[in-house]
Amino acid sequence: MPSLPKWINDTVENVWSSKFKDCTVIHIEKITDSLRLIRFATDLQDVPYEPGYAIGIRINDRDFRNYSPFNFNRNAGTFDILFHLHDASAAGSNFAARLTQGDSIKLLMPRGKQFYVATAKIHFSVGDETSLGSSLSIKEAVEESNSLFICLHELEEVSALEKLNLFGYHSPKNNTMRMIEALNDFLREEKETIYDDEVIFYLTGNGGRMSLIRKFLKARGVSPKCIKSQAYWIEGKKGL
Ligand SMILES: Cc1cc2nc3c(=O)[nH]c(=O)nc-3n(C[C@H](O)[C@H](O)[C@H](O)COP(=O)(O)OP(=O)(O)OC[C@H]3O[C@@H](n4cnc5c(N)ncnc54)[C@H](O)[C@@H]3O)c2cc1C
Repeated sequence: MPSLPKWINDTVENVWSSKFKDCTVIHIEKITDSLRLIRFATDLQDVPYEPGYAIGIRINDRDFRNYSPFNFNRNAGTFDILFHLHDASAAGSNFAARLTQGDSIKLLMPRGKQFYVATAKIHFSVGDETSLGSSLSIKEAVEESNSLFICLHELEEVSALEKLNLFGYHSPKNNTMRMIEALNDFLREEKETIYDDEVIFYLTGNGGRMSLIRKFLKARGVSPKCIKSQAYWIEGKKGL
């Protein structure tokens, strides 16, 4: 989201007040040195939610940042966010790192474009640390259906996957070749399902990496309509 003057953000919060809710931080868990899971509580009864949606956090007067809720429980009134604390001096990272249990903050409730394709036979989520929340939200939806979930994440610390119960392919950071190799294994095994357009790839995370993977999948015969993508961050660009 673009950086805007304070008065515009104040006006958005007032005019759109029904889209914002006061949320309380009820639980904080360190997953790895750079990943923090935070559980928020609020009344979620009339709040729309789909996998791939994002909440907005006003991290200062001028800026909002997007984060992906998962474990969204309308009855309990709780949801979780996994924050990638990539840089202590970046506004969003710094804001998340300073949240403590009992804090109350106003959050822009989940919204987004249609991302999840309920009819797919196999759902394949690809990304990095910022994509883990969205992968978990897709996995939760898949578990309620008769389909399969697979994921591939490029990660600094692989232990995150086991702690989050999110088993799948992984690759070290900045190693596009390793990601391509993992995708190649899958493409070979699922040739027919891919040919029948029954696998949906969800690409999120680093925008540069995402577009390389998108090109690779298309070159290997995956139909563009089976690739859903959304950049979560871009090198040198603040807040998408
Ligand atoms: C729809 C959507 C959902 C998202 N969901 C999540 C989520 O669940 N969890 C999450 O952690 N993030 C998520 N993000 C990404 C997050 O909003 C960005 O990473 C955001 O830029 C972080 O803000 P910041 O103030 O910390 O860094 P910024 O001030 O925005 O960025 C400063 C610089 O840091 C670099 N940078 C930004 N993010 C990262 C990163 N993660 N790793 C390495 N370098 C980075 C860029 O080069 C940028 O120029 C999501 C983004 C979108 C659009």
